[in-house]
Amino acid sequence: QRFSTAAVAEEPISPPVQVNYTQLLIDGKFVDSASGKTFPTLDPRTGELIAHVAEGDAEDINRAVHAARKAFDEGPWPKMTAYERSRILLQFADLIEKHNDEIAALETWDNGKPYAQAANIEVPMVARLMRYYAGWADKIHGLVVPADGPHHVQVLHEPIGVAGQIIPWNFPLLMFAWKVGPALACGNTVVLKTAEQTPLSALFASKLLHEAGLPDGVVNVVSGFGPTAGAALASHMDVDKIAFTGSTDTGKVVLELAARSNLKSVTLELGGKSPFIIMDDADVDHAVELAHFALFFNQGQCCCAGSRTFVHERIYDEFVEKAKARALKRVVGDPFKNGVEQGPQIDDEQFNKILRYIKYGVDSGANLVTGGDRLGDKGYYIQPTIFSDVQDNMRIAQEEIFGPVQSILKFNDLNEVIKRANASQYGLAAGVFTNNLNTANTLTRALRVGTVWVNCFDVFDAAIPFGGYKQSGIGREKGIDSLKNYLQVKAVVTPIKNA
Ligand code: ADP
Repeated sequence: QRFSTAAVAEEPISPPVQVNYTQLLIDGKFVDSASGKTFPTLDPRTGELIAHVAEGDAEDINRAVHAARKAFDEGPWPKMTAYERSRILLQFADLIEKHNDEIAALETWDNGKPYAQAANIEVPMVARLMRYYAGWADKIHGLVVPADGPHHVQVLHEPIGVAGQIIPWNFPLLMFAWKVGPALACGNTVVLKTAEQTPLSALFASKLLHEAGLPDGVVNVVSGFGPTAGAALASHMDVDKIAFTGSTDTGKVVLELAARSNLKSVTLELGGKSPFIIMDDADVDHAVELAHFALFFNQGQCCCAGSRTFVHERIYDEFVEKAKARALKRVVGDPFKNGVEQGPQIDDEQFNKILRYIKYGVDSGANLVTGGDRLGDKGYYIQPTIFSDVQDNMRIAQEEIFGPVQSILKFNDLNEVIKRANASQYGLAAGVFTNNLNTANTLTRALRVGTVWVNCFDVFDAAIPFGGYKQSGIGREKGIDSLKNYLQVKAVVTPIKNA
């Protein structure tokens, strides 16, 4: 086995960007936390310090909610027209494009993802999302509905108020955009808590939002930890809605905090253990490449990762051999280096968790085909790892690993694989690989998941709704469906009297 350890062993490339914003953004101003505390954000390539960032907690959340409340109740935000809101989002998209490379560098530095991925896919996607939501802003309207009595009935769609938003570290800037875009398009104000591992890009982006003309207090960004800042936001009495992306366990806590406080409405985008089903009519080379991408993309740190690769027994041996060859070819190294496909994992906690899961896999009798260890001796790099002969009851087939570990399972019958694919607490996404239309149709209807990718994977688009069945979440983000999360419905009934 030979992995590209050389790239990992070299001195880290100096990131082509500076960190300019490390304070909290409250009421349009960068401020220190009330306690004066800071926390370090670390470079996953080395575990070394990037910057000290203001650490917000309950008191800062309180300040931020107060600013958001005032901006929602008093303005100028609620008095602005939908067209004016739309123009701000469009202007923001232009500024994102203008600063594309700088933001991408910040994202790579803080998160460890390949720079090309951040610069060519993720940051451009943020601009695209903002233009999508800018398009919605002035097209949100209610209904006039017929009633049985002599009544004029209007149904108004109003902004819900102050939206609390809690985001994870795997796609820091994209998650910022998925959350802030629909909230602003619908006329809400926002308090957003970034993940403690990756606070930098959202601060930069929020600065640009204000440059684009966003009034003070409309978007407030608080860096800080989950049990302090996050929990304070989820349980705040003056927050009208909470949107959360993260693990299923934390999602349950957020839902409970929301219920115990003021019953704010909740949307959750949580974990997954997505099946990727490869039928025997598939072109094996193509299937191997797609299944590889489905799992290893973003260092395996995707809630929708195709983390159960189900392969039909007729092509199983060939598939495993070729999957191994592909994993061995994967270029792991400094994410700022050209051609690198895989950078380090986000932090030591995730790094150790992944290594623990690899051990569970070995101990439970799965066959370690390749990888299985860290790469280099610095930072959080892990070898692209594959297990074959994985059984449904093994922990590596049931729990989210969130790392570069592919589990391959064998099946021989369509009904069998449907049952096994659905036998999960999760229901976020699935991949289906077949040339047979009937097989594809049968699978897409039978799988209890929020997204089915047929002969493709991880295709994201501003207009495509995303979210989970079962314990993968509540509600949908992106697309038309995401607007519902940020709107209240008001019925207005007026008697019609003949003059
Ligand atoms: P992970 O384990 O991958 O870090 P989490 O679900 O814990 O995923 O984190 C996702 C987001 O939820 C982060 O912004 C984190 O700070 C926040 N968070 C963690 N714990 C809580 C909590 N008890 N209440 C609110 N937010 C939390």
